[in-house]
Amino acid sequence: MAFYEQEWETMPLEKLAAIQLEKFKQQARRVYKNPFFKARFDQTGIHPEDIKTLDDIKGVPFVVKKDLRECYPLGLLSGNWDDVVRVHMTSGTTGVPVAMVYTKNDLRVWSRLMARNFTAGGLKKGDIVQQAHGYGLFTGGFGFHYALEEIGAKVIPTGAGGTERQLRLMQEWGTTVFTGTPTYAVYIGEAAREKGIDPVKDLKLRLGFHGGEPCSDEMRARINERLGYTAHGGGMRRVYGLTEMGGPMAMDCEYVAGIHIWADHYLVEVLDPETLQDVPPGKPGELVLSNLSFEAMPILRYRTGDRVIVDYAPCPCGRTHPRIVKFLGRVDDMLLVSGTNVFPSQIEYVLLRHPELSENWLLVVGEKKGLHTLEVLVEPMPEAELNEQFTAELEKELHASLEIRCKVTLVPYGSLQRFEGKAVRVLDKRGK
Ligand SMILES: [Zn+2]
Repeated sequence: MAFYEQEWETMPLEKLAAIQLEKFKQQARRVYKNPFFKARFDQTGIHPEDIKTLDDIKGVPFVVKKDLRECYPLGLLSGNWDDVVRVHMTSGTTGVPVAMVYTKNDLRVWSRLMARNFTAGGLKKGDIVQQAHGYGLFTGGFGFHYALEEIGAKVIPTGAGGTERQLRLMQEWGTTVFTGTPTYAVYIGEAAREKGIDPVKDLKLRLGFHGGEPCSDEMRARINERLGYTAHGGGMRRVYGLTEMGGPMAMDCEYVAGIHIWADHYLVEVLDPETLQDVPPGKPGELVLSNLSFEAMPILRYRTGDRVIVDYAPCPCGRTHPRIVKFLGRVDDMLLVSGTNVFPSQIEYVLLRHPELSENWLLVVGEKKGLHTLEVLVEPMPEAELNEQFTAELEKELHASLEIRCKVTLVPYGSLQRFEGKAVRVLDKRGK
């Protein structure tokens, strides 16, 4: 097992806790100079100097996405604007964007922690990487790029899109690692198949680092097979990141035993979203993160809205840092349908257990006589011959998983929209 910073990566949790406390205190003093944070701290009646133990941080006010939007662009800047060398932000398609700015040192820290991730995932110096996360305002492209160079990988910076060229480059350059959203990985796999390219024989892809959207275990298994990762002795590694925390920051290791979060850079809390108290280890709760290392725009106690289960036991790979072992859905993605909470990821989980179906699907939420309706459009694979019995069985499985009735409609293979970035799987027609 290779490490990038072995001493840090295998440090006992108690030792890490002491470092976290020192770094948190430093960050609290740093953000207190910012008017937004100072007002929040003062309202809550806490001063950075009151923080003496890790328990004391429970008195530090939370930050939520609304705060980040209201403070756009620079309301949360705690460092010096003069020292800022890079700006990233979210696309803002659902409202005002969320911005993040970086000092040189922030970028250095980010590259090193991403280099830890890639190394843990099995990437080595000499690997040929087709980097298809988008370059630009999105944090993914550059966040990956510099860390890959840091390790000594050979980066082909394609960015997203240009599928034919992606496949051609993979063949010409013997690409061993592919990055991009899980949806794009699926798309590339489909395109290869349509062009008669056999990923096992004609390509050399061994590892995929795919993030930017949720990915079920079933989807990961599909990607491993479709792109030939498993056949070449590797596999897909999930990537987790948030612009609010600097960008991509956590990944699977070679054991795929949960997504490692580096505790010397991020303080992890898992809280009951109602009471905002810690849930017992191993229980689901909302992930709350504090950035312990960045200088320009560190965010403390950020409520991510992601429902997760975190494991604090050491990983079989030898790393001691906490791991997200289960994603139960992003609160933002949750749909309220006739009083029932529906997470689109639950639907994917059911659908992809059926090899007869393609990875593409669409949930249509409608309204009929004041009642909400759910319909899932699914595509059978070209060679599959499905009948009404299959549809009825699938409806039963979905009902059992979602606890609400859901109509299944088969549509021809290739008729649903394909995506080069994040997929859009829900069409909500209610009240429109
Ligand atoms: Zn591990």
